[in-house]
Amino acid sequence: MSPTILNIALDVPLNRTFDYLAGDFAAKNGSLVQVGSRVIVPFAGRSLVGVVLAIKQTSDFPIEKLKPVSHVFDDVVFSDFKLLQFCADYYHYPLGQALISALPLRLRQLKPAVTRKQFAYFLLENASKNSIPKRKILLERMFDALQAAPVLAASDAILISANWRKAISELKQLGLVGEMEVLALQKSLPTNATEPVLNDEQQQAIQQVLALTHTFKPWLLHGITGSGKTEVYIQILRQILQQKDAQVLVLVPEINLTPQLEARFRSRLSQYRLVTLHSNLSESERLQNWLAASTGAAKIVIGTRLSVFTPMPHLKMIVIDEEHDGSYKQQDGMRYHARDVAMVRAKQLNIPIMLGSATPSLETWHNSQKGQYGLLSLRQRAVENAQLPNIFCIDIAKSPTENGLSPLLVKALHDRLNKKEQSLLFLNRRGYAPVLHCNACQWAASCTRCSAKLVLHLSQKRLKCHHCGFEQKIPAQCPSCGNADIRPVGQATQRLEQTLQSLLPNARIARVDRDSMRSKDALTDMLASVHAGEIDILVGTQMLAKGHDFPNLTLVAVLDTDSALYSPDFRASEKLFAQLMQVAGRAGRASRPGEVLIQTAFPQHALFDALRSQDYVSFANAQLQERQAMQFPPASFFALLRAESAKFNDVNKFLHLAKIAAQNANTSNQNHVMVYDIIRPQMERLKSMERGQLLLQAGSRAALQRLLKGWMPEIKGFLLANKVRWSLDIDPLEF
Ligand code: ADP
Ligand code: ZN
Ligand code: ZN
Repeated sequence: MSPTILNIALDVPLNRTFDYLAGDFAAKNGSLVQVGSRVIVPFAGRSLVGVVLAIKQTSDFPIEKLKPVSHVFDDVVFSDFKLLQFCADYYHYPLGQALISALPLRLRQLKPAVTRKQFAYFLLENASKNSIPKRKILLERMFDALQAAPVLAASDAILISANWRKAISELKQLGLVGEMEVLALQKSLPTNATEPVLNDEQQQAIQQVLALTHTFKPWLLHGITGSGKTEVYIQILRQILQQKDAQVLVLVPEINLTPQLEARFRSRLSQYRLVTLHSNLSESERLQNWLAASTGAAKIVIGTRLSVFTPMPHLKMIVIDEEHDGSYKQQDGMRYHARDVAMVRAKQLNIPIMLGSATPSLETWHNSQKGQYGLLSLRQRAVENAQLPNIFCIDIAKSPTENGLSPLLVKALHDRLNKKEQSLLFLNRRGYAPVLHCNACQWAASCTRCSAKLVLHLSQKRLKCHHCGFEQKIPAQCPSCGNADIRPVGQATQRLEQTLQSLLPNARIARVDRDSMRSKDALTDMLASVHAGEIDILVGTQMLAKGHDFPNLTLVAVLDTDSALYSPDFRASEKLFAQLMQVAGRAGRASRPGEVLIQTAFPQHALFDALRSQDYVSFANAQLQERQAMQFPPASFFALLRAESAKFNDVNKFLHLAKIAAQNANTSNQNHVMVYDIIRPQMERLKSMERGQLLLQAGSRAALQRLLKGWMPEIKGFLLANKVRWSLDIDPLEF
C-alpha cells in the first residue's frame, strides 16, 4: 500500500509547498488528518506549524526522502484555499506565508489551541449563606453577588475579586453553587433601539439589494455622513441573516475608533451572535472569535482588514464601511487591499457585497460609473432637521494667523463658548512643533536615521522621529553654531492646545491624538466626557475625524491643509477631500446647524469649491478626467518594486537589473508595460536604510500580471536579491 502523503503550506519565504508523510496520523480512525488540518513538521532543523493543503498518494519527490509530520492537531483551520491562493498569485507572495499569517497568533504556535470554556455561575436552590464557614469574607461577598444576579459570568466575577476562581470552587464544594457552560457571552446591551422610519432613498437602496441576494453583485452605497448608511447595512443584513445558518462580514477601517458602530450592530441585531476581530483584542479573545466565525457559530463578524480572510462557512454578504479608507491596505508582508480581496471573495462565493462611503475611492467611483457596481445614493441627512454644515475658507493672507490661529477663527471659538456649544480643531500633526530651528545658521533638528525632521515633544522634553522612533534630549543650544536661541517652528496639537488655553482660559480643552490616547480606554473615556458636555473644545488629529457623533458640536476648524493641495502624490487631493468631508461631517449632526472653517492661503482652489457645495460627484468626475489624461490609476495599473539597503549603490544595482529584466520581458512578451526610471521615494532614507523604487505601469491588470509572472522569479534569482531588502507592491497607495 502506498503511504499517505500530505502537501503542506509552511510559513517560509519560498514559492512552493512541501510534501510530508502522514505516518501514524493517516490511519488512526481513518480520518485524523484532513485537508485544512494544522500540523507540526520538521523543517531545516526546526519545528514549524503548517497547514495541510491536500492529501495524496504520490509525490514529485522520492518517497524515501520524505519525512513524517511530527504532529497533527485536531483543529481544522481552513478548508477552502481559493481566496488565499488568488492572493498569493495576484500579490506574488508565497501561499504558505499568506496562509499562516492570516491565522490568529495562537494558531501559528506549536501548541494545541486551547480555548478555555466559559462558564457562568448561579446559586443552587435552597443554598443558604449560613453554610459558609466563618471568616470567609470573600465567599460571602461572592454569595451576595450571586444572590443579586441570576447568573454571574466570569467577566462579572472578576470584578468582585481577582481570586474569584478559588472562591467559586469553594462555594461549589460547599454545594451552594452550580455552573453552566456559556457560548459567547454577549455583552448585553439595552435594546432601547428604536427602528427609524426609513426615508425613500434608504428604502429604495434596501429593496434593490434584497432583490439580488443569491448572486455576486457589488453595490456602492454613496451617502454623506449622517445620511443613514449604517441603518441601510443593518436592515439589509437582518434580512440576509434570516437565511438558514447565514453569516455576514462587516469590514471597518479601525474598530477601536468607532465603538459606536459595534454597539449599534449589537443592539439592533441582538439575536445573532456577533464577534469582532481586530488588534485590540487579547490573543485568546482573537482566537475564540476567529474559531466562532470559522465554525459558523458567530453569525456576524465585524473586523478590520485581516478579517477579510476569516473562514466563514456560510458567508452570505460582505459590507465594507468607509471603503475609501487607506487602512484597508496592508503595508508590509503581503500587501493586499482588503476591499479588493473582499470583492474577489464575494465573486468566488457568488454573494452580494456593499461598499459604503461619503467619499468613495476613485477606483470604486470609476467602477460605479462604468456600471460594474450598482450605485445607490443617499442625498439627505437622515435625522430630521439636521442640516449640512456651512463651509467657509478663511483666507490667511487677509486674516493672518498668530500661533496658527487666525483672528476670525478665535472669534468663532469665543462665540461657541458663549453659546455653550462644542468646537473641534483638526490638525493632523501630533507633538508640540514639527521643527526645532536655529535662526542664526538655519540648522534644524533632523533624524540621523531617516530623511525627516525631529518633532518637538515639549511635555517630555524630547525630540522624536515619527518614522523610526528615534528620540533624544532637546539640546540647550544649536549643535551646529552654539546659538542659544533655538526655537520651535510650526504648529502641532500640543502647542495648539497650549495656545488655545491661554487665549480662552475658561474653556475646557481636550486633546485627542496618539500621544494623549495611549491607553486602551482613553479614547472611550474621552468620547464619553465630550458627550457629557464636559469638554468645550477638542483638539485632535485624524483620530477624531472618524465616525464619532457629537450632537452638540457646531464648529469644526481645519488648520493647515495647504501642503496637501500641492503635493507630488497624485492621490493627495482625493485623500484631502475625503478627510475634509469627514471632519466636516462632525459638525451639526443633530438639529443645530454646523459650521466648518478652513484656514488656507488658497481659498480659490477648486477642491474647496467642491467641498463648499459638498459636491463629491463633480469633484470625483473632475479627478477621474485628470487621472485619465495623466494615465494614472484607475485609468492604469501600477506595480512598485521597492528596495532598501545600507548602501544606495546596492539598491541602485538591484533595481537596475530588475529594470533591464522588465524591459526584456516586455519585448519578448509583446507586452505594453511602461517601465519607469529608478527613483528615490520622498523619504529617501528610513531607519538607516537607503531606499529606491521602480514603477511599472500597464493599461490592464492582465498585462501587468503577465509581465510579473516571468519577472518575479528572475528577480528572486539575482545574487543581490539576498543582499538588499525588497518587496513588490501591487496597486500601491504610497510612493
Ligand atoms: P451614516 O452611517 O451614513 O453616517 P447613520 O446610519 O449613522 O448614517 O445615521 C445617522 C443618524 O441618523 C443615526 O443616529 C441614525 O440612527 C439616524 N437615522 C438613520 N436613518 C434614519 C431615518 N430614516 N430616520 C431617522 N433617523 C435615522
Ligand atoms: Zn545654529
Ligand atoms: Zn527616524
